[in-house]
Amino acid sequence: MFENIICEHIKNIAPYVPGKPIEEVRRELGLSKIIKLASNENPLGPSPRALEAIRTALINIHRYPDGSCYSLKKEISNYYNIPEENIVIGNGSNEIIEFLVKLVSNNDFEVISSFPSFLMYSKIVSSFKGKNVVVRLKDFTHDLKAIRDAITDRTRLIFLDNPNNPTGSVISKDTFLKFLESIERDILIVLDEAYMDFVKDEVDTVRGIELFSKDPRIVVLRTFSKLFGLAGLRLGFGVMHRELADALNRIRQPFNVNLLAQIAGVEALRDKTHINETLKTIWEGLDYYEDEFRELGLFYVPSHTNFILVDVKRDSTQVFKDLMKKGIIVRAMGSYHLQTFLRITVGTMEENKECVNKLREVLSNDYA
Ligand SMILES: *Cc1c(COP(=O)(O)O)cnc(C)c1O
Repeated sequence: MFENIICEHIKNIAPYVPGKPIEEVRRELGLSKIIKLASNENPLGPSPRALEAIRTALINIHRYPDGSCYSLKKEISNYYNIPEENIVIGNGSNEIIEFLVKLVSNNDFEVISSFPSFLMYSKIVSSFKGKNVVVRLKDFTHDLKAIRDAITDRTRLIFLDNPNNPTGSVISKDTFLKFLESIERDILIVLDEAYMDFVKDEVDTVRGIELFSKDPRIVVLRTFSKLFGLAGLRLGFGVMHRELADALNRIRQPFNVNLLAQIAGVEALRDKTHINETLKTIWEGLDYYEDEFRELGLFYVPSHTNFILVDVKRDSTQVFKDLMKKGIIVRAMGSYHLQTFLRITVGTMEENKECVNKLREVLSNDYA
């Protein structure tokens, strides 16, 4: 049906496969206790301050939200030290990705992204009939030389998730600055920093927020879905040159960010206790996983995020299924062409220990 209705380029888009929801696994397997370490969510839950503010605000949800996100923009501006005029807030940072692609979607535009990296870039480009130019990661990090060589006069955008999802690696500052210098054309370089909040200060990497005011080609994406624990409310933002921000504000819907998300975002940024506890949990968890993987003799990519990519040296889809039967949901990396890798989100220490114990059990079964 709808042969003549649904456009050809839309028919060809593969659906996004999200991490399995807990409820679905509970239903299918009849398990009572399930640990989800598949979608890089905050293991401590949302900020209690944000929750309290949402409860108080519920009475107002018959009203339209503030279309300008006045208070939230002010708070983001303070927290990250960014002028308000450079901030565009979205229904998740995914919405900002969509706006950026829409912005450049003239006939036969091209967008470069890495593989593996965040799958939403290519899906959104396809939905606007753009051409995806995909460059393989090299040694689990962005191959900036190959990306530069892939640029044509039709290239409009380059998406770089830094840190990269699913490897957790970062681009060093020097490498990036050289890359930037080598590009002569008018191309937007989007640094998707969904995980930058987890990167320790001493790590050598490019930080878009320090750079965008010096180079108008730089666009930065940030999210409230990871460190700030608000994935379910859908909240993210972009940082960019004022003229770009103006253009995006013209194409977004007037009330694209819902009322509860705006209120929760303000409080999440103010909740230093929740932020610090989350960082401590993630950093200790990463150390734990690295120690355990070393002991198990498993290769892993050192991570700067709240997840870790590990090679289980056998079909990871089978390991994923076996772990799920034991109540642990992780992500198998087959769709990223990493057939023997799992991506595991850092949980609470109790969850991490449970995960490693079950992984040990599963790996000791000999189906390799
Ligand atoms: C999780 C994630 C996001 C966040 O998207 P939201 O729409 O803000 O939830 C963005 N980019 C990458 C690479 C991610 O992994």
